[in-house]
Amino acid sequence: MKCPRLRSALLLLLVGLAARAQPVLIRAGRLVDPATGTAITGQQILVEGGVIRAVGANVTVPAGAQVVDLSDRTVLPGLMDAHTHLCLTMTTQGGKGLNELLQRLLASTLLETNARRALIGAKNARDMLESGFTTVRDVGNAGNYADTDLRRAVEEGIVPGPTILNAGRIIGPLGGQYHGIQPDRPDLGEPEYLYADTPDQMREAVRKNALFGAKVIKIVIDDQPYLYSVEDVKVLVAESARAGLRVAAHAATEAGVRIAAEGGVASIEHAYTASTEALQLMKKKGVYLVGTDFSRSAAEAMGMADYHQKVVERLKRARAVGVLIAYGTDIVFPAPGETRGTLSIGGIESFQEAGFTPAEILRSMTTSAAKLLGVDGQRGAIRPGLAADLVAVPGDPLADASVLRRVSFVMKGGTIVKR
Ligand SMILES: [Zn+2]
Repeated sequence: MKCPRLRSALLLLLVGLAARAQPVLIRAGRLVDPATGTAITGQQILVEGGVIRAVGANVTVPAGAQVVDLSDRTVLPGLMDAHTHLCLTMTTQGGKGLNELLQRLLASTLLETNARRALIGAKNARDMLESGFTTVRDVGNAGNYADTDLRRAVEEGIVPGPTILNAGRIIGPLGGQYHGIQPDRPDLGEPEYLYADTPDQMREAVRKNALFGAKVIKIVIDDQPYLYSVEDVKVLVAESARAGLRVAAHAATEAGVRIAAEGGVASIEHAYTASTEALQLMKKKGVYLVGTDFSRSAAEAMGMADYHQKVVERLKRARAVGVLIAYGTDIVFPAPGETRGTLSIGGIESFQEAGFTPAEILRSMTTSAAKLLGVDGQRGAIRPGLAADLVAVPGDPLADASVLRRVSFVMKGGTIVKR
C-alpha cells in the first residue's frame, strides 16, 4: 500500500469496525419513543454491528458483550437538525442587520479557501455530534462542495460527525442570496451559489449537484426582487426527483411560501412571515416547515432581534394549523462559551415559548425530521433493525425538553462517541 492517506483511512475504518464488532448492551433507566410521546422504564437495548438488534426488559445477552449502564438516565433516539450550515462560521463582529449579515457571508465566499471551509465543517460536525445530533441535513453555503468532502470524511471515519445529507451548492436565480451584487462582477456569488434562471439552467444545476455528491437540493425562492415561479419550482422538483433527491426551499415571505408549497417542495425553510392561510396550504400539500426558529439570544447575535418574536408567533399558528414540523436551526455564528451543538439545541426555547409540549418538540427532532430527510427506515427511533443512533439525558425529556441541553451519552451507528 503506497498511499499513506489511503492506509490511514483504512486503519481508521478497521479500528471503527473492530469497535463496532463487539456487541453492546445498554441498560436504559427510561426509554423514550418520540413517535408516541411515551416512555417505559427498565429497558435493555442490544447493539451489534452498528445496528439495534433487540429492545426489551430481558434481552438475551451474547457472550462478551460490553455493558453500558444508563439506568440513571433516559435514553432516546439521536437528535436531528434539518437546517445546518456546518462549513460556515461567520463572525458576529461588525454591523448588525440582514444586509451586514449577507456581506459577512460574501466575505466568507471571497476570502476563505475551500480547505478552510471543510476544516470549519469538521469542527462544527464534531460539536453537533457531542450535543446529541446524530443526523443533520446541511443546506449549502459550503464553498465549492466542501460539504461533500465533509460528508464522505464522516462516512469513512476520518472525522467524527453526524450522518450528513448535504446540499452542495444552493440553486437560486442570478445573484444567489447576495442583495445588490454589482453588475461588473455578478459572479461574486460563486461558488457559494449556482445561478439558474432558465429551465435548462435549473436542470443543469440540479444535475451538477447530484454529480458532485449532493443528497438534497436547496433552492432559494424569494431572496431577490425576482422570485422563482411555481413553474420554475416544479422544474427543479421534477429534475431533483429524477436524481432521487428532495428539495428544501428558502422562502421567507408570504409569496415565496405559497410558490414553494404549490411547486411541491419537501420543506420550506424559514417562512418567517407566512400567513395562517399559507401555513394551511403547506399542510394541505404535506410540506414540512423547517422554521429556523432563533432563540432570543441567537436572534440578537445574528443582529435580527425582532425575528425571535416573529418566529414564536408563527410557531404558535403553525401548531394550531397542524403543519408538519421538522426541527432546523440555521446557526452560523459563534458565541462565547457555546459550541455549534449547544447553540443548535438552544432553538428549543422558541418552541417552548410557543407552547409546544416536550413530546412535540422531541418528535420534530426525531420522528418528523427522519421522515422529511427520508431516513425513517434507518434512523429516528430505537427499534430492532435501525442504526444504533441514540443519546441519553438526565431527567425526563417528556416532562421538560430543557434536559436535551444536557446530553451525557451519544452513540452513533453503534460507536460510543460520548459518555
Ligand atoms: Zn440557512
